[in-house]
Amino acid sequence: MKRVLLKLSGEALAGEKHTGFDEATVLGVANQVKTLVDDGIQVGIVIGGGNFWRGRTSENMERTKADQIGMLATVMNCIYTSEIFRSVGMKTQVYTPFVCGGFAKLFTKDEAVSFLEEGGVAFFAGGTGHPYFSTDTGTTLRAIEIEADVILLAKAIDGVYDSDPKVNPDAKKYDEISIAEVVDKRLAVMDLTASIMCMENKMPMLVFGLEGENSIVNTVRGKFNGTKITV
Ligand code: UDP
Repeated sequence: MKRVLLKLSGEALAGEKHTGFDEATVLGVANQVKTLVDDGIQVGIVIGGGNFWRGRTSENMERTKADQIGMLATVMNCIYTSEIFRSVGMKTQVYTPFVCGGFAKLFTKDEAVSFLEEGGVAFFAGGTGHPYFSTDTGTTLRAIEIEADVILLAKAIDGVYDSDPKVNPDAKKYDEISIAEVVDKRLAVMDLTASIMCMENKMPMLVFGLEGENSIVNTVRGKFNGTKITV
């Protein structure tokens, strides 16, 4: 693995509080990513917005506007996380698909790839920049564009199951599954649009639980006990 795209949910930044930011949690992620960067791995990051807002949050609002708020939530998450990363000594840059004044740089593949090649951590904020998409689709799109080797999908659950383990105590975890099967079985890994993009563009994924010491570093170093999604 030379270049990876790490997807964190917004809730992952909130820790036990489930809303806003939990600095200790984000510092933990920062230290792990620093280990990867020190190992010579290029790291891009996408963060969801669920710790602040989802397009589905309000039923009394036009979806387009609600989604714009969601996209801005992901920008806030990236600015915050980027600053915490800087505090532990990493070089970072936040990229957005829409103009955010001096807060972030407009994303271009060339710019982001050169930054990664210089050892910087690139944050891809704002999702795809369009409503009716998600940060899952944003993740897939950016991973394909920057030619990442793999998407690292850090979740609250430790892999992909054949049914929801919270509901079904007999749910079985997959060690490995193809993306075609994920799509056929409609397994809840990413949303369907994102899964289909991964299938069409042959983008593999490693799904693992963020909780647990060194979960991200272990995943990249091959000490992996989540689910590998093959193409
Ligand atoms: N969002 C969007 N377009 C994108 C990415 C995100 O409209 O390309 C909005 C959408 O409202 C979404 C919110 O941002 O609900 C937060 O993104 P996330 O993927 O965390 O949302 P979730 O999939 O959990 O709803």
